[in-house]
Amino acid sequence: MLEICALVKNFTHPDTEVLHKINLTVRAGEFVVVIGPSGSGKTTLIRCINRLTDPTAGEIFFEGQPTSQLRGAKLRALRTQIGMIFQDYNLIYRSNVMQNVLHGRLGQMGFFRSALGLYSRQDLREARELLVAVGLEEFTHNKAQSLSGGQMQRVGICRAMMQNPKLLLADEPISSLDPASAKVVLDQIKALTQARGLTSIINLHQVDFAKAYASRIVGLRLGEIVFDGVPEDLTQEMTDYIYAR
Ligand code: ADP
Ligand code: MG
Repeated sequence: MLEICALVKNFTHPDTEVLHKINLTVRAGEFVVVIGPSGSGKTTLIRCINRLTDPTAGEIFFEGQPTSQLRGAKLRALRTQIGMIFQDYNLIYRSNVMQNVLHGRLGQMGFFRSALGLYSRQDLREARELLVAVGLEEFTHNKAQSLSGGQMQRVGICRAMMQNPKLLLADEPISSLDPASAKVVLDQIKALTQARGLTSIINLHQVDFAKAYASRIVGLRLGEIVFDGVPEDLTQEMTDYIYAR
């Protein structure tokens, strides 16, 4: 599904290299959780995958296709296959819940229909089904800004699913939420991705949540992968090492 080869990223000059020759292969259906302290490069890594950030060196293959040089329509086509859930939700807060969910469909719609917001009956039905699945049907017509953080993130989940992606990326989707809301959000991400056979890469800061949900954990420390394995193999010593200053 995804092959990351010798990925290097620096934002300014080589002295400030953020990712150092990262190698990572993700197979279809995996639920990979990337853990690591703040500044270890988790956000940069997933933003390189959907090219919100351009890699400095190395290559990322998505279903065998190199992505680093994609431009224009080909880059947009890549991005429609990769759903993204953001740390700060990235909703249109003045729009209602339904409109936010439907936005996930725009990338597949052709210029005129998307410019005019001409969604099909099928689009509306799928959006409604997703809102039912995450328990937000009664908020369908409420403005996004009126929701709690957990509810906003569940709208973010629906929007990503409306895209029908092959790969789901999530960047610390629960970092602003209380533990109960965090659990609901992770349960819903896991349930929806499993039901659809989606491949997922989720950045999380919290090791306990990572262990509870991941099929595979990747530990990032100072821009390098220092652990890659099943949750049962992540020892306390390794966790301490990943998070050591
Ligand atoms: P994490 O998500 O694990 O907290 P990030 O990927 O956000 O880590 O950041 C890794 C490093 O890259 C940090 O040192 C951060 O300051 C730096 N960095 C991230 N984004 C930028 C940017 N746009 N410009 C310059 N430096 C950046
Ligand atoms: Mg981050």
